[in-house]
Amino acid sequence: MIIVMKSGTPQEEIDRLNREMESWGLTPENIIGRYKVVIGLVGDTADLDPLQLQELSPWIEQVLRVEQPFKRASRQFRHGEPSVVNVTTPEGTVAFGETSPVVTIAGPCSVENEEMIVETALRVKEAGAQFLRGGAYKPRTSPYAFQGHGESALELLAKAREISGLGVITEVMDAEDIDKIAEVADVLQVGARNMQNFALLKKVGAQRKPVLLKRGMSATIEEWLMAAEYILAAGNSNVILCERGIRTFDRRYTRNTLDLSVIPVLRTLTHLPITIDPSHGTGWASLVPAMAKAAVAAGADALMVEVHPTPQKALSDGPQSLTPEQFRQLMDELAVIGNAIDRWEKRPAFA
Ligand code: PEP
Ligand code: MN
Repeated sequence: MIIVMKSGTPQEEIDRLNREMESWGLTPENIIGRYKVVIGLVGDTADLDPLQLQELSPWIEQVLRVEQPFKRASRQFRHGEPSVVNVTTPEGTVAFGETSPVVTIAGPCSVENEEMIVETALRVKEAGAQFLRGGAYKPRTSPYAFQGHGESALELLAKAREISGLGVITEVMDAEDIDKIAEVADVLQVGARNMQNFALLKKVGAQRKPVLLKRGMSATIEEWLMAAEYILAAGNSNVILCERGIRTFDRRYTRNTLDLSVIPVLRTLTHLPITIDPSHGTGWASLVPAMAKAAVAAGADALMVEVHPTPQKALSDGPQSLTPEQFRQLMDELAVIGNAIDRWEKRPAFA
């Protein structure tokens, strides 16, 4: 349930209502919008009568029931206002959200060695990316496949971050690794295979770094938003959704089916920012540029693209990785679309 306060409501009145709600055993969450304050109520509100609640204060404009099972993630919970996830990077704050320029995240599937991660970081930065991605812990289908270099890869990410000034996004697979990953990463990634690892979701929700939550490969939109709800309910309001393709019947020409329709669907359902990953979404480098451009045109808030200095030698996901040169060219093309919809920030060339 949400209580929408009239604009100009005195803070003392909001504080009084918060105390009142707490005394009823509910958890009030104040959402300060551009024009209005909304009090989101979490807890057992089934027996509450919206009309009766309305009587509590003349400053209450409206009391509404949130219909969806995902409460905090729902668009209604913020009375229609999109949220902005601000991420601190070495060179300042980068905002993810519907009202901000499109953010680009680029880098290899896995961190392989110092030279390649530093080179990739500098090249994607030069092309205009704001974040470096790269896995230290890799979720691989086969236990015999390259599993990532783990802790030593985190050190290399820290180095690449320092040298390039880019923010770092990397995956957490095991809750035990959260602290050491959070020391290096500006955003923690929860991968598709862990989207419903509820113990992990609660743990990333209980720490402070923003979380990029990938859609499970067979997850419905509702299951995905319920997974986001776990993180929000645990206290972390900085969640960014990432569509990375779902499993459909054809695997011959595409690795997954990139579901771009989630962009307009999620816009109506949630206030959370939306990232599109056309690399895992298609599985082939030749398909990535078209889908990246389509994603920006469709209103994505961020893109995550795999880039490797020598894709043919990559230890994982080489076939879907762009070369730095291809990425630079893609960024030039994206700028045309991004500028046309007024969502592209002119990025300074890297000296
Ligand atoms: C990745 O980003 O490298 C990755 C493993 O992605 P996903 O979880 O979407 O498969
Ligand atoms: Mn990958």
